[in-house]
Amino acid sequence: MTKTPPRLVLALLCVCALLGQSCRLGSDDSFVRIDRLLLGTLVQITVGGERKQAQLAAEAAADEIKRVEALTSFHASSELTEINDRAGDESVSVDPELAALIRRSLELSRQTDGAFDPTVGSLSTLWNFSGEKPRVPEASEIADALASIGRDRVTVDQGAAAVRPAEKGTALDLGAVAKGYALDRAAAALKRLGVEHALINAGGDIIVVGGKTDETPWRVGVRDPRTPGGVVAIAELTEGAIVTSGDYERYFESDGVRWHHILDPKTGYPATGMQSVTIVAPDGVTADALATGVFVLGPEKGMRLIEETPDVDGFCIDGEGRISMSSGAKSLFNMKR
Ligand code: ADP
Ligand code: MG
Repeated sequence: MTKTPPRLVLALLCVCALLGQSCRLGSDDSFVRIDRLLLGTLVQITVGGERKQAQLAAEAAADEIKRVEALTSFHASSELTEINDRAGDESVSVDPELAALIRRSLELSRQTDGAFDPTVGSLSTLWNFSGEKPRVPEASEIADALASIGRDRVTVDQGAAAVRPAEKGTALDLGAVAKGYALDRAAAALKRLGVEHALINAGGDIIVVGGKTDETPWRVGVRDPRTPGGVVAIAELTEGAIVTSGDYERYFESDGVRWHHILDPKTGYPATGMQSVTIVAPDGVTADALATGVFVLGPEKGMRLIEETPDVDGFCIDGEGRISMSSGAKSLFNMKR
């Protein structure tokens, strides 16, 4: 039997949890909120300030997310798909912004010892989690895909804004950082327009600009991975991003096994032993990549990495539902269980 929960339903559940528990957005007239379906999820942009300016700023932030989506798409035709189509040929000249994002992703891959790896594209295609019919691939197909994975197979010439996957078959998939990057660019657009208080929620992954007011932080709920609509923790934030990766976001079940979309680049199969990982970082790309990377690394290695990484905190919920927290996370989160 296969079952893929619609992402939108999950996003709505997540957002309902947030609204119930935290910001009371929408009931406060000093904020404008716009909702858009972007990045395969419901994106809510809440901006404080004078109404007309806040509305314009929120629209500009949504445009920025749309632009990043077009730049990083793995499926629709984009500069990224052009790089993948021409793998093994010559370098592909791309927008310097995309080159920089790929370079940063390769760096984060090194930092996570390959647990987060943007070259998993051939594996993502094989499992097809975002398609109509995801399936468990044959072992031989997984072995072939694994042979095309590795950050050293991609070179980025930042000066020339050129990217080259060295071999045919190697494919870049920025799915694990695209949302984080979109949040970063959208927040930057808001700041450029003078916004001092805003929150952008992309299906539970959030970036904030300033607090809710000068005196009050934003209160952000983190979804309980096993209780739809339930909240496992509340964080109070005045700056930066909070991102959660979980085994409940995109999955199908077959023979009683939950096959979810976070893949271990070493085995080719969904990473085991975690239900969810929540990371708080100054920027969305770092939070997004580390949430995926820590999920793959598992509770011990993952939390050690977070402990060693400056300005980053978080917690994870392992396969048995046990919570491990970085030392800084203890003061950041109010745990609900
Ligand atoms: P979500 O997109 O649901 O927030 P993630 O940020 O964890 O979740 O990203 C998962 C997506 O990233 C997958 O759908 C796939 O495209 C890609 N991916 C899966 N495993 C990895 C990995 N180990 N490293 C990098 N990207 C991955
Ligand atoms: Mg991620």
